[in-house]
Amino acid sequence: EHIANQIAAGEVVERPASVVKELVENAIDAGATRIEVTVEEGGLQLIRVKDNGSGIEPEDCETAFYRHATSKIASGRDLFQITSLGFRGEALPSIAAVAKVSLLTAAGDDGRGRLLEIEGGRLVTQEDAASARGTEMTVRELFYNTPARLKYMKSIQTELGHISDVMYRVALGHPGISFTLRHNGNPLLQTLGSGDLLQVIAAVYGTSAAKAMLPVSAEDPDYTLSGYISRPEWTRANRNGISTIIGGRSIRSGGLNAAILRAYHTLLPINRYPLLVLNLDMHPSLVDVNVHPAKLEVRFSKETELYAFVERELRQVLLGENLI
Ligand code: ADP
Ligand code: MG
Repeated sequence: EHIANQIAAGEVVERPASVVKELVENAIDAGATRIEVTVEEGGLQLIRVKDNGSGIEPEDCETAFYRHATSKIASGRDLFQITSLGFRGEALPSIAAVAKVSLLTAAGDDGRGRLLEIEGGRLVTQEDAASARGTEMTVRELFYNTPARLKYMKSIQTELGHISDVMYRVALGHPGISFTLRHNGNPLLQTLGSGDLLQVIAAVYGTSAAKAMLPVSAEDPDYTLSGYISRPEWTRANRNGISTIIGGRSIRSGGLNAAILRAYHTLLPINRYPLLVLNLDMHPSLVDVNVHPAKLEVRFSKETELYAFVERELRQVLLGENLI
């Protein structure tokens, strides 16, 4: 009997990048400070996510692959947990239904861990195995048993592009965690986990981009902004260079994006874009999250105020620079 059905899997597991995102988020939830991601052939051949987090107790390993077997209780305060409840405990069973998965994990420091192998939702191996504290999930041959889905996959380069994008956004949201990404043996991303956002920007966009950044830091009674925007002279960014982050998670808001571009384009030509990493802090009651497993669309309850605040502060940072 299959642990999870493949139809439900399609909602969570759209492509290799969705697997990377789910596994990395689990590692973050487990308190990891170092997360290593290895992929082969755009993730279609292999995705491995290794973390130094809490690990999983031997008796909990199998149930982690059952639908709705989440160990994460929504703490009424966390807006993302409340609103993403519908997808809780879905990732591992969904991934395991459409791939060959192995889990190596240990919850303690005595080197004694557990190994599970699951193929197409069927548990095929479960045994004790040596492991450092933490978890290593390996996903092989994604969609091997769903050829129709496999046919939808684009080129290796395209799938790798989506994976890199996931990793860049997660890394920008968590400067305190060290991330590495390797594809077919080549290092593509390495962040130090020092907590320094500029280091992450350098790792993602290059050192010259990081040198071109200006700090953003502002507060009003409802909102706190922090991050970096590229100096007006920086011309190498495109539309994708804007990252907006709430609570470490990359979010999307058309209105917020428009406000950012208004600030930029009242000062600079409309065919140019900033590099921007903007963290927003606010009370959970001020944001409404419409969750899709692949992306976080948000709406703000006092949107006019927020957009005006962001526009004014960003313009001020850019203008301040011009006056010096
Ligand atoms: P969710 O993250 O919504 O709880 P998942 O299917 O992603 O559901 O994971 C199921 C459970 O497996 C988690 O609640 C957690 O207890 C455990 N788990 C998964 N990945 C890890 C990990 N890297 N480290 C520790 N525990 C994990
Ligand atoms: Mg999860």
